[in-house]
Amino acid sequence: MNMINKDHEGTWENCLNVIKDNISAQAFKTWFTPIIPVKIENSTLTIQVPSHFFYEWLEEHYINLLSRVIKKEIGSEGTLEYSILMESNHKNAIPYTVKLPTQNNNSIRNSPVSIPLNNGEKQIRNPFIIPGLKKINIESNLMPQFTLDNFVEGECNRLARASGYAIANKPGGTAFNPLLIYGGVGLGKTHLANAIGIAIKEKQPNKTVLYVQSEKFAHQFIDAIKNQTTNDFVHFYQMIDVLIIDDVQFFAGKEKTQDVFFSIFNHLHQNGKQIVLTSDKAPVELQGMEQRLLSRFKWGLSADLSVPDLETRIAVLHKKMHGSGIELPKEVVEYLAYSINTNIREIEGALNTLLAQASLNKKAITLELAKQMVDKFVKNTAREVSIEYIQKVVCDYFDLPIEMLKSKTRKREVVQARQISMYFSKKMTKSSLANIGAHCGGKDHATVLHACRTVVNLSETDKQFKVYLEDLEKKLTLQ
Ligand code: ADP
Ligand code: MG
Repeated sequence: MNMINKDHEGTWENCLNVIKDNISAQAFKTWFTPIIPVKIENSTLTIQVPSHFFYEWLEEHYINLLSRVIKKEIGSEGTLEYSILMESNHKNAIPYTVKLPTQNNNSIRNSPVSIPLNNGEKQIRNPFIIPGLKKINIESNLMPQFTLDNFVEGECNRLARASGYAIANKPGGTAFNPLLIYGGVGLGKTHLANAIGIAIKEKQPNKTVLYVQSEKFAHQFIDAIKNQTTNDFVHFYQMIDVLIIDDVQFFAGKEKTQDVFFSIFNHLHQNGKQIVLTSDKAPVELQGMEQRLLSRFKWGLSADLSVPDLETRIAVLHKKMHGSGIELPKEVVEYLAYSINTNIREIEGALNTLLAQASLNKKAITLELAKQMVDKFVKNTAREVSIEYIQKVVCDYFDLPIEMLKSKTRKREVVQARQISMYFSKKMTKSSLANIGAHCGGKDHATVLHACRTVVNLSETDKQFKVYLEDLEKKLTLQ
């Protein structure tokens, strides 16, 4: 008997010590000093509270804190039972048994009276909400248009996309935790990270999914420090089942933010919650990031998004076009796909500009218009034609299939088209000789150099050849 008594009192005292550090002295005095620990049995701690209202207040405001301290003191099986003193008959306390929330899913063990439980989210200040406003559910902040269905698959994103699907089916339950999606601007990091969140929400609506940009996270943290609500801040993030943080490179050099993120990360990871991160750099290149955080990033999977290949670019254009309900002529789509090879955002931007201009000016979208628009509105990138575009124009001109350029064929007309493509690629792009060679069936830089010299020589000696070159140059030059 003594043993048991000492146990529950000692346990409750330990709980109080933690609780004391997490709430104001006034709140502690009001809501916790009146509590009397009654017993501990089978991992269930029973505490006596003075009234039903008191019980409700604790549930509404302190359930998460209680949950954490109970689990810490008793273990993951730990539950809390309230014994409520009835106002009329103090001797006849009715025990209400309350299982502490696990994974955001509160349930009540068989008890004589069932009491609806709060979600446990109310008592924590939600950093997304203007103070004073009450918020029950946590908004995901997901962007509905960025779905997995809308995310075109290509060589450039296969691994990242596949891991996204895996996570969507089993958040927290795959080896991809955290998933770090990295790649340059406009390659689809935000889209994919969002899409994972949307897919999880669709399959498991009761999961708390949160998308947040790291900049916002950092600002919320600073505000929390100012307002002395860092505990709330941390607790809020610890409640999330699927935390998606976009552009974590922003944390570089911000030690305090990294520290707080580290502790949130550990809590979530230990509890089997899913973490999805994006970064514009590979983990090894993330300067100014604490080593312990970097090593955590590597626990799961780092998947890169690379520059989209031609097929993906065309597929993206088709997808977006169908989405807008406007069909563009094939040559325009090809032109866009061939000439904008930096990232998908640029492709999208060019397409949108084109559609907008066309509808404003009521002009048909011709290749001519496309060229003008791209030249005017798309960043410098479009001013430089791509190797692929050059190859296409040259092949169209000589009526050859583009695959021939990349083959080993030594047929005269193919060799000539290949050499001309190399010549224009050297002249009009910033590509290295090696890269140009790689685009022409894996030739080395010496072969490219030789091709360029041959073209120059021929244009000086062969009139017909010179005409070809001038024609092609006109076609390739954007006006
Ligand atoms: P990042 O976050 O890497 O800078 P975003 O995710 O914002 O890039 O993507 C830029 C634009 O390109 C978005 O409008 C997005 O929908 C689109 N996009 C990127 N990748 C794809 C893809 N694989 N399929 C369809 N659209 C894509
Ligand atoms: Mg982004």
